[in-house]
Amino acid sequence: MRLVLATKNQGKVRELQEMLQDTGFEVVSLAAYPDLPEVEEDGDTFQANAVKKAREIAAATGELVMADDSGLEVDFLNGAPGVHSARFAGEHGDNEANNHKLLKLLENVPWEKRTARFKCVVAVAAPDGRIETSEGACEGIITTGPRGKEGFGYDPLFYFPQYQKTFAELDGDIKNKVSHRGKALGKAHKFLARWKV
Ligand code: IMP
Repeated sequence: MRLVLATKNQGKVRELQEMLQDTGFEVVSLAAYPDLPEVEEDGDTFQANAVKKAREIAAATGELVMADDSGLEVDFLNGAPGVHSARFAGEHGDNEANNHKLLKLLENVPWEKRTARFKCVVAVAAPDGRIETSEGACEGIITTGPRGKEGFGYDPLFYFPQYQKTFAELDGDIKNKVSHRGKALGKAHKFLARWKV
């Protein structure tokens, strides 16, 4: 049975594909559907955006669809960039500019006030309208400079105290176990198993 990932973010596609390996689904990305219109992510919450993406892509493709909406909440910035994480610096998906803006906004902010968390909501929708969601979060601290080459997005700035490394310094397998996406996916595995035919 096919499961379409409703994202063009290559970092997310890679992680989701790794985490879905043992489910028995044939996992395909949106790259297999080049003619689909963009889904506008105009919700105020990760939940609203994940549900919207999953529903619209399921209706357009006629397939079972998984969408992930995720982002970074920084306490000193009152939860920003939040749902705007991908386009924090203006252009959608410009990781370098986003990271630069975040570091600038936190310049001279002491370590103990640099607390943050990644959040993720995963939504799985069927073309008949059925939908289920799950969520995960992961606590960390924003560094004062980038460290590491793995992962994507804000990973080089997200220090994960349990491993004393940034997410970009962690092995992908470990990130997938402890991350916001890993936790949301762990819960999604349960309803995916029920939905499999
Ligand atoms: P979305 O496509 O609107 O869900 O955008 C998610 C954005 O949040 C990404 O483009 C990244 O900037 C950020 N993000 C989400 N998950 C991660 C992660 O695991 N590592 C680093 N950045 C992430």
